[in-house]
Amino acid sequence: MRDREFSESLLAWYDAHARVMPWRVGPADRRSGVRPDPYRVWLSEVMLQQTTVPAVREYFVRFTARWPTVSDLAAAADEDIMGEWAGLGYYARARNLAKCARLVTVEHGGQFPDSRQELQALPGIGPYTASAIAAIAFDRPETVVDGNVERVMARVFLVRTALPKAKRNLADLAQRLTPRHRPGDYAQAVMDLGATVCTPRIPACGVCPWMSSCAARKAGLQAELPRKLPKVAKPTRRGIAYVGRRTDGAWLLERRPDTGLLGGMLGWPCSDWTDSPAPAPPVKADWRDPGVQVRHTFTHFHLHLSLRVAELPTDVRPDVGGFVHPADFRPSDLPTVMRKAYDLVARPDN
Ligand code: SF4
Repeated sequence: MRDREFSESLLAWYDAHARVMPWRVGPADRRSGVRPDPYRVWLSEVMLQQTTVPAVREYFVRFTARWPTVSDLAAAADEDIMGEWAGLGYYARARNLAKCARLVTVEHGGQFPDSRQELQALPGIGPYTASAIAAIAFDRPETVVDGNVERVMARVFLVRTALPKAKRNLADLAQRLTPRHRPGDYAQAVMDLGATVCTPRIPACGVCPWMSSCAARKAGLQAELPRKLPKVAKPTRRGIAYVGRRTDGAWLLERRPDTGLLGGMLGWPCSDWTDSPAPAPPVKADWRDPGVQVRHTFTHFHLHLSLRVAELPTDVRPDVGGFVHPADFRPSDLPTVMRKAYDLVARPDN
């Protein structure tokens, strides 16, 4: 199959099988002239960084109902954005989201720029996201390469070199196939193919539009590719989280510094997260060990978080954090690791 035939057969497949997503303008609507809203494309692509489609759907719908335009989001308070983002992880994305929305509103008159280079100059938009927005929102012939696309390329072209060494080669192959005609639909089509047909373990080659040309299928190696170097085991860190509640019902919480892990998010005051953390109660009190532990995995380490709980008098003055009245406290505003602690020791139905 020639390069052009690859894109044409994939686009024909996409016309019939495109996944329906709340941020997507499907192929039939595109044909009838509907244009994607760059704000929705940008928001979805930022949410999808490191996160799966099913996890993002609900967040996307909530964000766009609350902030239908980039200017609405730009006018939102940081705490509200961080609160809506809670649970989605990688919180630097939410901080950059707010910065980017304000910059687009103030410096670009509320219009996203339409080239990869200009998009990449905005906060929180790296090369992948810039290419995805340029292709999907503006139909620029940019190549979008994520794990799905790498897998498909490694199989179609029988690339036996292991990842990450094969990355450059796989990106070049993906670029070779990117068409000038309907590049936005093509970018979404190749991602859909990787997510629904050319899946990691058991690819459904029988329904694949590239079946007749796929070298890995011919060699019977489709399930073995792409090869990957063995992952380094993640270390385990430990920590202590202090779940304190005043007798009037207010919770003792702290907003974490803007930079670093869970930056800008609300959480329970904690010790350091190290091999052997020193106790660091936020206030002197009768901290009790409930005998349960939160386990959570971040990108680079596992965390075992011991919990301490205490009831605090109304006149207490904490060294860190502040009290949040029950009426202003939404457990859903907590990042997942902090939410797990709440669920274990503080949720009313415990
Ligand atoms: S034929 Fe099979 S292995 Fe090859 S691209 Fe299609 S689904 Fe993937």
